[in-house]
Amino acid sequence: MILPGQTIGILGGGQLGRFLGLEARLMGFKTVVLDPTPDSPAAQVCDRHIQAAVDDSTAALELARLSDVVTLEWELIPAALLEKIEKVKPLFPSSKVIATISDRLVQKEFLKERGFPQTPFVPAANRQELEAATKTLGFPCVLKRRRHGYDGKGQLRLHSPADLPKAAPLLEAPCVLEALVSFDKEISVILAVGREGQTRAFPIAENVHRGGILHSTLAPASIPIPQSDPILALAEKVGRDLGHVGVMTVEMFVETGGRVLINEIAPRVHNSGHYTLGACATSQFEQHIRAVGGLPLGSTVVEGPVVMINLLGELWSDGEPRWDLLLAHPSVKLFLYGKAKAAPGRKMGHFLFIGDYPGGPLAEAERLYRGLLPVSAATAD
Ligand code: AMP
Repeated sequence: MILPGQTIGILGGGQLGRFLGLEARLMGFKTVVLDPTPDSPAAQVCDRHIQAAVDDSTAALELARLSDVVTLEWELIPAALLEKIEKVKPLFPSSKVIATISDRLVQKEFLKERGFPQTPFVPAANRQELEAATKTLGFPCVLKRRRHGYDGKGQLRLHSPADLPKAAPLLEAPCVLEALVSFDKEISVILAVGREGQTRAFPIAENVHRGGILHSTLAPASIPIPQSDPILALAEKVGRDLGHVGVMTVEMFVETGGRVLINEIAPRVHNSGHYTLGACATSQFEQHIRAVGGLPLGSTVVEGPVVMINLLGELWSDGEPRWDLLLAHPSVKLFLYGKAKAAPGRKMGHFLFIGDYPGGPLAEAERLYRGLLPVSAATAD
């Protein structure tokens, strides 16, 4: 068991690492983060910062030496480096879990072997394999890079054979082709798996993506309890079968008829779980610290409906957004990540709208969001 006063090592210094560091600090843990960027979001709040690439093995071993337990905010770290770390200190999630998740094809095969529901898929490493795969799956379909794709990056929708030439840049690395799902809702389950295999899930999050990037989350999702209990049980089974320790995320599609398909797994805290920090008895970040520290898991009760809206860099195109207007609403909580430069698509922060509201909290959160848009975008809207 890792107790307050001991040190948690974090691989990766973005906003997820920042919130892990902040929650660890509130609980009295010490933290050390490994990240290449000076003054990164996590480096601003952790006790120590090792400034080096996350795949620098000398730096990673130094992080391990300073830590009592090591964890990560980013799964695309080479397995060989994780194996080195786990030889010296406990590492959660393990290199084995990361090896299963970080390659889309291996992840999909893991789910298939265990009979978890997902959209049909076929590996496609080159143009010939892609053409054959489209014959098996038909159109429309989605081509995805096996590794290093996130936030809709490394993906291409194919509507007909005429789109095949557009796939050439993606096919420079191995891909997997998926049948396109016509879904009614996108949801995610954030859950924790403890060191003894015990699981605890947060209420289901209902997500809206824009351009492949998460825009908003509503929790609890608008899904009736008879349907939500099996969804939570499904996600918890994925976590146990994987042998994961820590918080993880299972993203799913809900089809019009109610059938649920797993889209992908993230072996870490997640953007769609940001609502838990501010609206749940235990945040996903505290829960992760509890899980990797071998401590009992906390309550996942949510205090009411909550909406999270992401604040991307384009909001800064006319200068700093009008936080005074947003914060005039007493039900709003603002979280900014301390990133020096805003760029389009870059996650700069998010806000929560907590509690019910006439017309629904989602509509009110969207209204507040529109108030932050730069004048040019607001007119176009
Ligand atoms: P991913 O990075 O795989 O989670 O994909 C990003 C977003 O693209 C998802 O959240 C969906 O909105 C959309 N998407 C990905 N795969 C599919 C699919 N097979 N069918 C329909 N939409 C998809």
